[in-house]
Amino acid sequence: RVLDTVLRVEGLTKRYGRRVAVQGLALKLRRGEVLGLLGPNGAGKTTAIAMILGLVRPDAGTIEILGVDATRERERALRRVGAIIESPSFYPYLSGIDNLRVLALARGGVPERRFAEVLELVGLTGRERERVSSYSLGMRQRLAIAGALLHQPELLILDEPTNGLDPQGMAEIRQLILRLAAEGQTILLCSHLLYEVQQVCDRVVILSQGQVVAEGDVEELLAQRTRTALRVDDP
Ligand code: ATP
Repeated sequence: RVLDTVLRVEGLTKRYGRRVAVQGLALKLRRGEVLGLLGPNGAGKTTAIAMILGLVRPDAGTIEILGVDATRERERALRRVGAIIESPSFYPYLSGIDNLRVLALARGGVPERRFAEVLELVGLTGRERERVSSYSLGMRQRLAIAGALLHQPELLILDEPTNGLDPQGMAEIRQLILRLAAEGQTILLCSHLLYEVQQVCDRVVILSQGQVVAEGDVEELLAQRTRTALRVDDP
C-alpha cells in the first residue's frame, strides 16, 4: 500500500483574544491511516478541524491537503475531503436517499449508483426510502457519513461522530469507521473518548489546552499514560 501524505499541518495556531485555542499544531496523516485527535472539551480539536476545513482562518501555520495549500487554494484542497463537523441537519420530511441527493448537488452531482454504494457502506440499505424524521440519531449520523462519502473523498474528517448517541449507536459508528478503514479510507477522527480512539485509530495526537502533549501509537501511549496522568476522559 502506498503511504503518501494526505494531510500535513504545521505550526497551526489560533488565538481568540488572549486565549490560545490552538498553538503550533503539527499533524501528518498518511494514506490509509486513521489518526485520532484526542483531548478533553476545550482542548482545541474543533478549532483545529475548522481551520483545516477553511471555516476559521489560522493566525499562523500551514495546511496541505494532498499537496495543495488549503489556506491559499481552499476549494481545490477541499474537493478531496469529506467531513462531518457537528450534529447533522437534514430535511426531515425527505427520505434518506433524497437527502443524499440534495447533498450531492453541492458536489456537482454524483453517479446514480453511488447512492446505493454509500447507503450499503453505512448500513442503511433498505431504509433509504423512509423519511429522515423516522431515523434514530445513530441512523442520521450514518446518513451524514454517507453524505460525506458521496464524492469518494481521499480524506474523511469526523468531529465527535458519536456525540449524543446511545451505546448501540456509538458501537455502530465505531464498526463503520473500522469498516471504512479496512477499505483503505484515510480518516481524521476527533474525539474526547479515549476508548473510541483506542478502538479505531492507528495513531493518536493528544491535545490539551491547544497544544500537543503526546502523540504516537495508541497502545504505546496507553502504556505511558499509566505513568503520566493525561487528562483524557475515560468511559
Ligand atoms: P469541544 O469538544 O468542546 O468542542 P474542542 O477541543 O473542540 O472542545 P475548541 O472548541 O476548539 O475545543 O475550543 C478551544 C478553545 O478556544 C476553548 O477554550 C474555547 O473556549 C475557545 N474558543 C473556541 N472558539 C472560540 C470563539 N469563536 N471565540 C472565542 N473563543 C473560542
